[in-house]
Amino acid sequence: MARILKGAEVVEALNNEISTQVEQLKAAGVFPTLALVRVGQRSDDVSYERAAMKRAEKVGVGIKQVVFPEDVSEESLLNAIADLNADDGVHGVLMFRPLPPHINGDTVRNALDPRKDVDGITDLSLAGVFVGSDIGYAPCTAQACMEILDHFGYELKGKRAVVVGRSLVVGKPLAMMLLERHATVSIAHSRTTDLPNLCQSADVLIACVGRAQMLGADYVSPQQIVIDVGINVDEDGSLVGDVDFAAAERIVSSITPVPGGVGTVTTSVLMKNVARAASRQ
Ligand code: NDP
Repeated sequence: MARILKGAEVVEALNNEISTQVEQLKAAGVFPTLALVRVGQRSDDVSYERAAMKRAEKVGVGIKQVVFPEDVSEESLLNAIADLNADDGVHGVLMFRPLPPHINGDTVRNALDPRKDVDGITDLSLAGVFVGSDIGYAPCTAQACMEILDHFGYELKGKRAVVVGRSLVVGKPLAMMLLERHATVSIAHSRTTDLPNLCQSADVLIACVGRAQMLGADYVSPQQIVIDVGINVDEDGSLVGDVDFAAAERIVSSITPVPGGVGTVTTSVLMKNVARAASRQ
């Protein structure tokens, strides 16, 4: 049976580290604060917002909620972002996406000051990930995968990593982060041929596909570390990953569960970035 890489363990270590940093900042008169910008009432956004507020309270990060109706104009949203960029009391901004179709999502996300872009949504933050500099921040989910690998002590140098998924939120930035750590990285996607064989060849397999339990027994191999980023709802209404956990855990060396894996670590990474942003600003 595989070792289960539980997110809770990583979260505890991260929260201790963040709480200490936040206390030090407060002692120096800086109160790390995250603005949560939400348009409309999408249930995913509302539940992530609730989780972020809970985690913020736990580590001492302040929250400023900014909520707009679904029919908000692009101009109002851009004005709000300009205000948050100029507000010295706000160190990080998380904007829930996708935005409604009448709003140009690219214009709005790139209006954010990369120094406050704690979820890595601006082009400049992503450029920073690709060139290996701290212009902004890496997307929290990609960073959460790295935190998990680091926490459990996995050396990446010389390892073969396969990332299944090439979105800007997870797959592409994560591939660059693995490369930065000297892994040999393949990025797979919907047009990749012979995906099971490619996945089986990995030492570290990262699934960010968005398809419930797609990676089954024929995609994994012994000795593998599997990080499952997927969050999907199956036919029974249960939360499942992109990997068939029951099949994979009998074969691989270690695996993250869903729920209780990458998702929970992502929220702490967000707080870590707010604390970093506060200390940098
Ligand atoms: P996207 O839909 O943006 O990207 C999915 C990627 O998977 C695409 O690159 C797509 O390829 C690829 N893909 C789709 N089908 C296949 C297939 N049959 N074979 C191979 N590749 C395929 O999703 P996201 O990156 O936003 O999210 C991925 C998963 O991660 C989702 O389950 C999401 O819920 C979860 N997630 C979890 C977070 C967390 O905190 N744990 C945060 C963000 C996302 P192509 O580019 O060719 O279309």
